[in-house]
Amino acid sequence: MTAAGEPWGYTRHMEPIPPYEPAAEAPEYWECPGCGFLSLDPTFADATSACPKCANVAGERRRFPPEGQRRLDARIRAYYREREWEIAVILAAALLEALLEDTLDRIMATRGADVAMRSTLLDTVRAVGQRISRLFPDLTGAEFEDAAAKLGFRDFPKRWRQLRATRNAFIHDTPYREEAAALDEEAAASAMRLLDEAYRLFVLLNNDYVADSRAHASDIPRISLHGETVGEAPVREAGEQ
Ligand SMILES: [Zn+2]
Repeated sequence: MTAAGEPWGYTRHMEPIPPYEPAAEAPEYWECPGCGFLSLDPTFADATSACPKCANVAGERRRFPPEGQRRLDARIRAYYREREWEIAVILAAALLEALLEDTLDRIMATRGADVAMRSTLLDTVRAVGQRISRLFPDLTGAEFEDAAAKLGFRDFPKRWRQLRATRNAFIHDTPYREEAAALDEEAAASAMRLLDEAYRLFVLLNNDYVADSRAHASDIPRISLHGETVGEAPVREAGEQ
C-alpha cells in the first residue's frame, strides 16, 4: 500500500503533468497603419491616439490577428476543449505557419518588396523549416532561434520543430521516421502552448523588424502593409536621425 491511500503503482514520480490550460481566446492587438506597430493597449484602438513608434495619428487601427485567423483560433480552442487532439494539433500547426508567413510577408514589405515579389518568394520557399532557417535570417540578419531567445522564447523554436515532426509523422505515415506519430493530449497541449506564445513572439518580431524599420527609415514609402496610402509623414523630434 502506498502512502496517503494512493492506488498501487501510483508513486510520486508518476504523477501526471497538469494539463495545459490555454487562453480563452486569441489576444487582441491593434495595429498602427503607418508603421505596423502592434499594441495590446486597448486605448491604441482609438484612431486619434498617437503611435508610440512613429507618432502617426492618422488612420484607422486594425485589429490583429485579423478576423479569419481569429475564427480559426476560436475553432482550434473549441476542438481542444472537446479533446479532439488530432484536429486541434493539425489546425494549430497550420495557424502557426500562417502567423510565420504573415510576419515574413510584413518584413519583406518593409524591405521594399511589392506584392508580386513577396508572393513569388513565399511560393519558392514553401517548406516552413526553410522559411525559418533560410528566409528569416536572409531578411533579418538574425537566426530565428536567436531572435526568439532574445525576446524570451528560447525553447519555442525547438518545441515548434518537435510539433511539426510529430504532425508530419502522423499525416504522412512515414515508418522510417523516429518521431512518435501520436497526436495525443500531450501533443495538443504543446500545440496550444505554442499558439498562445506565438502571438506574443510574432508581435514582438513585428515590432522589432517591421515597425522599428518603418518608423525610423525615411526611404520606406508611406504605404500601409495592406496596400493603402496612409497618414502623414511621422513627426520627428529635433535632432532625430
Ligand atoms: Zn506607428
